[in-house]
Amino acid sequence: MLIVGCIHGDESAGVAVAHALTAGPAPANADLWVIPVMNPDGMAAQTRGNAHGVDFNRNFPAEWQPLGPPGSVDFAGGGPLSEPESRLVAALIRRVRPTVGIWFHQPMAVVDTSQGPKAIERRFARQVGLPERSLTVHAGSATRWENTIVANSAFVVELPPGPLSTTSVRRYVAAIRTIIDSG
Ligand SMILES: [Zn+2]
Repeated sequence: MLIVGCIHGDESAGVAVAHALTAGPAPANADLWVIPVMNPDGMAAQTRGNAHGVDFNRNFPAEWQPLGPPGSVDFAGGGPLSEPESRLVAALIRRVRPTVGIWFHQPMAVVDTSQGPKAIERRFARQVGLPERSLTVHAGSATRWENTIVANSAFVVELPPGPLSTTSVRRYVAAIRTIIDSG
């Protein structure tokens, strides 16, 4: 399993879930890979993109398109995997081939069921108390690409705005561990 706490630098609530996961016991029956922050420069600057202004969620090689001029909010970069951060994450995914991938975003407060493992998404949504919604699948998005590496594996969880409460963080960690424990 792969967990990415923050891909858009100004959507960082999932980082607390990632840290709480790694602070807990390692699962006995699964390999759990946690990237708390894929976009450290964006998180420090409170920007969606990285220091090059690239939106990683348009920079992956799944139907990549040259979206947006540099400086625009969804600038896709100079080409697929033009950024060191997205190259690293893509290399990890190719190597590990996670059977489940969860990418945290904000602030829509929904589990995105447009792609990925439907039964797992449904149970996850019920467990954390978010509605299910099918969001637009964007050109070059990380989950779209991950699903070309391992079919029906990756999905987006849109957290509510602002930081998560301690109780909420525990609920998300429990929902992730439920996925792991159910094999
Ligand atoms: Zn986002």
